[in-house]
Amino acid sequence: MDDFARRLLAWYRRHGRHDLPWQVGDPYARWLAEVMLQQTTVTAVIPYFQRFMNAFPTVQALARASQDEVLVHWAGLGYYARARNLHAAARRITEQYAGDFPRTAEAWAALPGVGPSTAAAIVAFAFGIPAPILDANARRVLARYHAVSGRDARALRELWMHARDHTPTREAAAYTQAIMDLGALVCRKTPDCAACPVAADCAFEGEDVPVMRRARPERAVFMAVIRDPKRGFLLVRRPPHGVWGGLWSLPESAELKDLPAAVAALGLEPRLGTAAAPIRHVFTHFRLTITPIPIEGASQGCGVAERGDVMWYKGRGPGPGMPAPIRRLLNQFLEVP
Ligand code: SF4
Repeated sequence: MDDFARRLLAWYRRHGRHDLPWQVGDPYARWLAEVMLQQTTVTAVIPYFQRFMNAFPTVQALARASQDEVLVHWAGLGYYARARNLHAAARRITEQYAGDFPRTAEAWAALPGVGPSTAAAIVAFAFGIPAPILDANARRVLARYHAVSGRDARALRELWMHARDHTPTREAAAYTQAIMDLGALVCRKTPDCAACPVAADCAFEGEDVPVMRRARPERAVFMAVIRDPKRGFLLVRRPPHGVWGGLWSLPESAELKDLPAAVAALGLEPRLGTAAAPIRHVFTHFRLTITPIPIEGASQGCGVAERGDVMWYKGRGPGPGMPAPIRRLLNQFLEVP
């Protein structure tokens, strides 16, 4: 064990997180948590994790569920490809491994939605197998500690090399949690170097390294709000792929001039009303502005029948799996008498 790992472990014993709901030694819980924690904070994940575990307490229960049921329990957490991949992987584990969890990082990394860092974290936490991780927190710590800049393949190779070098052959689970916690609690966007156990030989010089910077391009979309007085809002199911793949949303177009065609495709007269207040949502790779456009002539919606990819939703109650911004958008309209 090198000095970096030794100091990190000593710090972790006193200051790390030891009572997270997934720190229970159950490979299924660890896998679910690692997937939920990709691009999402611990605080945001905890209530989703608990609800998800109540609904699908085992990999077999998850494999038996329909994709719609899984998406309903994921709705609001974002990055829905994670839920679809988790579901597909659960089915593969029950079929290919007869419900037994794989024991190597390589086998985990072959499952849908499990990258090399997630696979390493799962085997370290669930089975105590030493394997280097390079999630966002570990990457930030190692990039600063070793002054690795850039987001290119060379920088990534260098960071993986440091991750491998520091990972000890024993106390794999504790070390893995320790480097995650150091990144989450101390080596944050603005680091608290005075509280850091590896500050004495860290190469960070007070300026954020380029590896941390990420410009988010702006995107915009227009969404048609079709509201029937009796049946509620008209939702359409999105195609299976993409950030909101398989979820229920509103008819949309990237350009306002194309929205009438999207409405007409549902058999409705495209009488566009006045745009309502836009909703903004930040994804990892871009910022999205949604401009809601009410479609006038509410009663005309009665002619649209439900089918596999179209449904009516009253706007209250659990409803189908919907992205959080769409739910917010509908709430905005529900507040209007
Ligand atoms: S000394 Fe500061 S920059 Fe370096 S690893 Fe610790 S918290 Fe991060």
